[in-house]
Amino acid sequence: MSSIQPGCLWVVATPIGHRDDLSARAIESLRAVALIAAEDTRHSRPLLAHHNIGTPLLALHEYNERDAVETVVRRLQSGEDVALISDAGTPLISDPGFRLVRAARAAGIRCIPVPGACAAIAALSVAGLPSDRFVFEGFLPPRAAARRSRLQELVGDTRTIIFYESSHRVAESLADMRDVFGAAREAVLARELTKMFETVLGEPLAALAARVVADPDQQRGEHVILVAGRGAEADAKLAEGQRVFAILRDELPPAKAAKLAAAISGAPRKALYQA
Ligand code: SAM
Repeated sequence: MSSIQPGCLWVVATPIGHRDDLSARAIESLRAVALIAAEDTRHSRPLLAHHNIGTPLLALHEYNERDAVETVVRRLQSGEDVALISDAGTPLISDPGFRLVRAARAAGIRCIPVPGACAAIAALSVAGLPSDRFVFEGFLPPRAAARRSRLQELVGDTRTIIFYESSHRVAESLADMRDVFGAAREAVLARELTKMFETVLGEPLAALAARVVADPDQQRGEHVILVAGRGAEADAKLAEGQRVFAILRDELPPAKAAKLAAAISGAPRKALYQA
């Protein structure tokens, strides 16, 4: 049995736009390791230089992953610490790294997360959609038929649904979501988060799809699309109705308070009265 202590694999989140969204711990670990496995070394170099990180880089992307994983695991086994980064955000989240982490864990190597930016979570944090339960769907299939059938599978989901989308398909995908989920389903388009043209638009799907077609600027850059789960709107109306009802009840008979609270919130009067 070897007496060499294996190194650790540090899985480090990098910014999704604003280059200062790199934590102090991320900088420290990227400086301390012997090697950084990066999705695209040319892409990462300016960020690393900005933070005075001079650690050697090794490319690890979907086309060389098998060979690169072997190299990295060997170096970890020889006692070196290695960091994994992707082009933006958290590695493995619609980014390479799954095979490396799996192989490292299988080899008994400790994998240490250094959390930070993730576009899905950043978008959810400002969308104003229910965030207690959500589902991350990543990228939809590029072909229209497969995309619609994936959306169809999600129609009944009551959780907030989060998608990544590229600039050249965002209009098409929003149109498909409108057709499948219905024109009135609430949705949010979070574009260019943490960057100069950051925009967060929340509207029913029909209005959002139309706005993105009418304004090509809204198609530029990087996008997260969030769609409210089925029934989320009714739940939100009921909660608002109950809040208003509780206030009015102090001043009015219950039937009158329920009628007014229903008119103000859009919640069904009967449900308020019964509550
Ligand atoms: N690993 C990344 C993360 O943690 O979010 C995601 C990488 S994935 C290849 C890239 C996609 O993430 C983009 O096409 C877009 O959907 C989303 N994304 C990344 N940065 C973004 C940003 N600044 N604003 C909005 N969406 C972004």
